[in-house]
Amino acid sequence: MKNPKIGVFGGNFDPFHYGHLNSMLSAAENFGFDEVRAVPAFISPLRVQTQGSTPTQRLEMLELGIRGHEDLIKVDRIEMDRGGVSYTIDTLTEYLSAKEKPDIFLIIGMDQFMKFDQWKRFDKILSEVDLVVTSRPGLELPYSMDDWPVSVRSMIADHDRHQAILKTGRTIHFFQLKDVEVSSTDIRKKIRLGQSIQTDVPPQVEEYVRTQKLYESVERRLGDFQKFTDYCAVVLNDKGGINVQSYDLRSQTAPTEFTLIASGTSTRHTAALAEHLIKEVKKDFGVWPESLEGQNEGRWVVVDYGSLIVHIFYDYVRQEYRLEELWTKIRK
Ligand code: ATP
Repeated sequence: MKNPKIGVFGGNFDPFHYGHLNSMLSAAENFGFDEVRAVPAFISPLRVQTQGSTPTQRLEMLELGIRGHEDLIKVDRIEMDRGGVSYTIDTLTEYLSAKEKPDIFLIIGMDQFMKFDQWKRFDKILSEVDLVVTSRPGLELPYSMDDWPVSVRSMIADHDRHQAILKTGRTIHFFQLKDVEVSSTDIRKKIRLGQSIQTDVPPQVEEYVRTQKLYESVERRLGDFQKFTDYCAVVLNDKGGINVQSYDLRSQTAPTEFTLIASGTSTRHTAALAEHLIKEVKKDFGVWPESLEGQNEGRWVVVDYGSLIVHIFYDYVRQEYRLEELWTKIRK
């Protein structure tokens, strides 16, 4: 008996959308897969946690989204069950150890291929499975090797525009999809702005998002921002934040209404202050920030709660920027 040909499609699916479905169905048809495994990540390695849904909600949306295609697409909770940071190499290794010795094709979008050399053990992945790299709207397939991640280039034995044969014996296939102009980021944004997502996701996913009140603007959940600013100031103070100051920017042309500044005694302390604040807000208000920047370095961390932006500096760096001079202080 022939070894089964299996497509593997991982993602965050926050939320699942027609772009994901298009990619799995089109690749399966083109490459003749017996099965596609859709694998939601528990924690994606290259992503910070921002306002979104729980792992269980992402899994449920995926299960709803593939309805009608269950013969071909199997949702696999392997990374949910494993917990921790989800590395594709661990999942593939488990699949490859199966008795039926599957021939595996890992399907990824061009955005992921561009940073593929940041994936854990990408060289091992490329020696165990074939890669199917799909186009994404706005991201053409690579025209020449100059558009490839540098560390992957040295692995190539031969290539043309449609495929590259690797020295490992495996192949990277470049696959042009019919564009489906959608991303999870855009969908989350549309919901925050109160726009319709009807054309972006299957109806059952749309209903789920609506009834579970996912991705709503944090503004609506946080209510009075003056009070919320005070709350954050107390949290930072209690954790040893230095010189915690809040500013009301409503009378100024600023991208936010309130801002809060604090500093930490070291880059580690600064990152710890941000982490603590995010945890407390999540516990008491049930929201993650809309975005988070600078957490890895800990020199200047920006936590964005929409109408409140919190800047946490390593104190030494704070002296350099002197943002305070730009804003109206409302209280110490
Ligand atoms: P986000 O906007 O939050 O980054 P996303 O829309 O990229 O999310 P993911 O769950 O991160 O969705 O992506 C899973 C896989 O689906 C990735 O390999 C990604 O490249 C691919 N993908 C996502 N959207 C599309 C699309 N519109 N067309 C083709 N592939 C897509």
